[in-house]
Amino acid sequence: MRIKIALLLFCTALTFSCTEKKPIDTMNDDQLRAFADELAHKFIIADSHVDFPERLKDNKILLDEATKSIVLSDSGGEFDYERSKKGGLNSPFMSIYIPSSYQKQNDTGKSFADSLINNVLAITSLFPDKFALANSPAEVEANFKAGKISLPMGMENGAPIGNDLANVKYFHDRGIRYITLTHSKDNQICDSSGDTTRTWNGLSPFGREVVAEMNRVGIIVDISHVDDTTFYQVMKLAKAPCIASHSSCRAFAPTVRRDMTDDMIKALGKNDGVVMINFYNQFLDSAIVNQNVKNKKKLRALLNAKGLQSSDSAAKPIIEQFSKENPALKSDVEMVANHIDHVVKLAGIDHVGIGSDYDGVEGETPTGLEDVSKYPNLIYTLLKRGYTEEDIAKICYKNLWRVWNKVEQVSKGG
Ligand SMILES: [Zn+2]
Repeated sequence: MRIKIALLLFCTALTFSCTEKKPIDTMNDDQLRAFADELAHKFIIADSHVDFPERLKDNKILLDEATKSIVLSDSGGEFDYERSKKGGLNSPFMSIYIPSSYQKQNDTGKSFADSLINNVLAITSLFPDKFALANSPAEVEANFKAGKISLPMGMENGAPIGNDLANVKYFHDRGIRYITLTHSKDNQICDSSGDTTRTWNGLSPFGREVVAEMNRVGIIVDISHVDDTTFYQVMKLAKAPCIASHSSCRAFAPTVRRDMTDDMIKALGKNDGVVMINFYNQFLDSAIVNQNVKNKKKLRALLNAKGLQSSDSAAKPIIEQFSKENPALKSDVEMVANHIDHVVKLAGIDHVGIGSDYDGVEGETPTGLEDVSKYPNLIYTLLKRGYTEEDIAKICYKNLWRVWNKVEQVSKGG
């Protein structure tokens, strides 16, 4: 009899824990919207890829007293303080993006990387009450409690490491917490999804040492942008979980090699890593990719007929008129949610997060996710699809935190 009661209690507890109430079951639409906004501010939102440093660089801005207002409230781009506060963004990884053009023998982009890092440091020293650096999840949490936005840093392209392994620690000391192994071209570390050269058939011998050194010093290995061969070799080699800091699912855009195949998503899940979903219109939907290809061809034919190159000054008004008459298709927040659903279906709720690529996609953001003030829309969309509060916490930051903490632990020999 006693066994029966114990069994009954056990089953009741199990049933209860397995059926965490979904907000969609108890709230109407207005309540769901309000709840989404509440969660966006209750949880840390850690977006693993924001290209604000690049936007500053493109505008040749070296942050100082005279130029600092661009950080607070700016009509251009997708990131600033005011909009971050509105959208609940507390931990945007500032992307230290190094274009492939720096992959030269005499200039690896190291001093360029330093100049971008200095700009991020300048934000925190110009606005100490609003922004702070963060080198660990614990530091982000302390900043969050103090009402400050953290600015952790990731370096997009390992080119600045050059051929000197000591530079991995150098960049760790400067605050870099993930490195995207390469960008759109093969580099000294590995092959890129944007290249066809197949220089190394995956990782170079030096690249293998770089991955091991990143694990040793505590830098997250980021597999966004790498070629599929590189990805699988990293999965075999890595001693700690990895991330895709800003990648989407190739299932929705089969020609986009920057996106991840179903098999890669499953493999990253097995590595206990996280796919951080990119919001760039063109990575989300093959209909958009196809239309862009068609438009490009149409425009090229139009210019050819007039004997013009796209770089000619006479071509400029024609290109502008063409763009007006043939606007690029836009994706939307539902499509981003489809990508999140897809990763959840393949790898589980513990392996998906947000890596918007804001300020790095030339304004091509989805409807409903136009800038950093719009994360509550995504949370609302996910709540409507039956995601629980805990699921939202995992997507907003907990999954990335698990990886980041584990990478630190592995570097300390744990
Ligand atoms: Zn990128």
